[in-house]
Amino acid sequence: MEIRVLGAHLSEVKGARLTSLLIDGALLVDAGGVTSALTLSEQKNIRTVLLTHHHFDHTRDLVTLAANTGYYWQGQLTVHAPRYTLDIVTKYLVDGTMYMNFLEYPSKQKPTLICEDIEPYGRKTIAGYDVLALPARHSVPAVGYQITSGDGRSMFYTGDTTVGISDCWQYISPQLLITEVAGPNEYGDWLKKAGHLCARFLKEELTQFRQLKKYLPRVIIIHVGNFFEQKIKEEVAEVAQELEADINLGYEDMKITL
Ligand SMILES: [Zn+2]
Ligand SMILES: [Zn+2]
Repeated sequence: MEIRVLGAHLSEVKGARLTSLLIDGALLVDAGGVTSALTLSEQKNIRTVLLTHHHFDHTRDLVTLAANTGYYWQGQLTVHAPRYTLDIVTKYLVDGTMYMNFLEYPSKQKPTLICEDIEPYGRKTIAGYDVLALPARHSVPAVGYQITSGDGRSMFYTGDTTVGISDCWQYISPQLLITEVAGPNEYGDWLKKAGHLCARFLKEELTQFRQLKKYLPRVIIIHVGNFFEQKIKEEVAEVAQELEADINLGYEDMKITL
């Protein structure tokens, strides 16, 4: 399994894209910064999208990817997410009000976007992977996904989340954990209210992982608040040292082979 980080940040600025992962070149997980990261032929390989929640920074490029897919090769993208997320995305983002209705373009018989729901605790085979959706604590209904390839390699991506994501640990056994740190420890209270993690909270959640599972997977941090990146990097490095764990910040175009 090869995981490519398309976007590792909370904000889009020159050199930094919004949260998105690409698995084996074909399975897209969240759609923040996608089309500016990939050539057209790379975009053509994407057939399947998983969304963790409806927030704009995780769904925005569904529009630009659908546009390229629909216009240039009349392809189809199957979007998997909880019904709550799909309802919002189909009502506000791709419904034709601001741009094309990709649920009916180029035709109702063969639209660019097809939606399939996967509810929390649901398990499905998607694009050849075993996908398990688990509820993630955030400011809106959200899930994380454990994605396991046919040869048994497994990663868990929490999506946006805050304290209490440890409730998921009992269900998973990944070799790689991709999660978020949106801001520095000094903003901990605010981050918790907004449904995000700081390094201090991450440490608590990872400590619980180790207690329960007797190991810690490699951890990659994305959804990094750009303005605080250096501080976050230092605070995450402290946690890595304290836990003697492999925890690093992800970055645009980073590739991880499992
Ligand atoms: Zn969010
Ligand atoms: Zn976000």
